[in-house]
Amino acid sequence: MDLPACKAPQTNLVNKAEMTDEPETHAETAQSAAEAFAVAGGGHDAATGAVLPSINLAATFARNGSGDNAGAPSGMVYGRDENAGVMAVEETLRRLEGGEGPAYVFSSGMSAAIAALLALGPGAKLLAPDVMYWALRSWLVHDAPRHGLSVTFADMTDLEAVQRHVADGNATAIWVETPGNPLWNITDIAEVCALARAHGACVICDSTVATPVLTRPLALGADVVMHSATKYLNGHSDVLAGALVFARDDALAREARRMRQTTGPLLSPFDAMLLQRGLRTLHVRVRAQSQSALKIAEHFANHSDVEAVLYPGLPSAPGHAVASAQMTGGYSGMLSLRLRGGASTAIRVCAATRVWTDATSLGGTESLIEHRASVEGPTSPVPDDLLRLSTGLEPVDLLIDDLERAIAFATGKRSG
Ligand code: PLP
Repeated sequence: MDLPACKAPQTNLVNKAEMTDEPETHAETAQSAAEAFAVAGGGHDAATGAVLPSINLAATFARNGSGDNAGAPSGMVYGRDENAGVMAVEETLRRLEGGEGPAYVFSSGMSAAIAALLALGPGAKLLAPDVMYWALRSWLVHDAPRHGLSVTFADMTDLEAVQRHVADGNATAIWVETPGNPLWNITDIAEVCALARAHGACVICDSTVATPVLTRPLALGADVVMHSATKYLNGHSDVLAGALVFARDDALAREARRMRQTTGPLLSPFDAMLLQRGLRTLHVRVRAQSQSALKIAEHFANHSDVEAVLYPGLPSAPGHAVASAQMTGGYSGMLSLRLRGGASTAIRVCAATRVWTDATSLGGTESLIEHRASVEGPTSPVPDDLLRLSTGLEPVDLLIDDLERAIAFATGKRSG
C-alpha cells in the first residue's frame, strides 16, 4: 500500500520564540498540567457512576439482528478490533499527548513501534538514531529490510547530519527517541520535524522516557508519538503495553490500526484497566522520579570512581539546553553512570546494591540498575563501563547511600 508522506499541520507547531517566553510558558504548563491530571483519571463509568471505568472481558458481541457484520448496539463486533476499556485508556492517552488523531494501544511497546513502522509501507526509507532502544534497533537491522523498509542510522543530535540525510533522499520517515536509551541523548524534536517537513518526511517519536508529563512531541511537530507503556505510563512493572498517538486521523493512523486488527496485538481489557490506573499517578511519579534522578546525577557528577554521569538535567550535558527548552518540569528518572574501573567494576556494583535491583526495564516505582552492554551483547554501541539506572520512588538518600556502598565494595574500598 502506498501511503502519502505525512505533513505536520502548522497549527500543531510551537514557535521556538514562544517557548523561551518564561511567564507564558509557566502559565501554560500549569494549566496543561492541571488539565492533564484531570484527564489521567480516566473519567467515571457513565452507566454506574463508578469512579473507575469498568472492565468488560467479552471477546465477541451479539449482532443487531441484521446477520451481517454491523455489530452490537455499541458498534463493536469482535474483541481483536476493540474493547470499551481499551478505548477508554486510548482516549486518556490521546488527550495526555494532545493528539488530534486517534490513539491505539498494543500488547507491548515493540508491537506498537512495529505497527507504526510497517504502516509506512514497502519502499519507505527510515532515518533512525544510531543509539536507541536496542531491541527495536535490532529489528530495524535484521527484519525491517524483509518488509521493504530501508533504514539509515544517524546521530540525531547532529542536526547537520540529519539535514544531509534528508536532503540526500534517505528519509521518507524519521524515528526519534528522546531522551535516547541508554545514553539519554537529547534530540531537538522541533528542529528535526522542521527538516522532515521541508522534505515531505514524517516523524515518529518514541517518548517512552519523557512521557507527556515532560514532553509533548505532537505540539513540537511530530506526526506520531510512540510509547512503551510498560514503563512510566503504567509505572508499576506489572503490565506490558505500547501506544501510538497520532497528530491526525490520516492514512498512517488507519494503516496502523488495520495492522493491529489483522495481526492481533490489542491490549487485553485487564491490562487496559491496570494501565488506566497507572496513569492516575503518572504526574506525581514522573516528577518525583525526575527530582531524585537529578539529585543522584549531581551527587555522582564529581565522584572519584565515576568517569561520567549521563543525564540531560546536568548543565554540563551536551543536550542540556535543548532538553531545558523541550522538557517541562524535569529531565526524567533515567540516568547512566560510567565507572572508571570499567566493565568488571560496573558488573560488581550491580551485584552489590541492596536497594537497587539488578533487572532490566525502567519507569517502575522500584529502582533498577543494570550493566547495559551485557544485556545488549557484543554488537552493542553502549560503552562497557556503563550502568543504566531507573530511579524509583524510594527515598533518594537511601538510593545514593546504596550506590556509594556498592561502588566502595566493587572498587575494594570496603568489604561488605
Ligand atoms: N522503547 C523504549 C525506549 C524502551 O525502553 C522499550 C523497552 O525497554 C521499548 C521501546 C519496547 O517496549 P516493550 O518492552 O514494552 O515492548
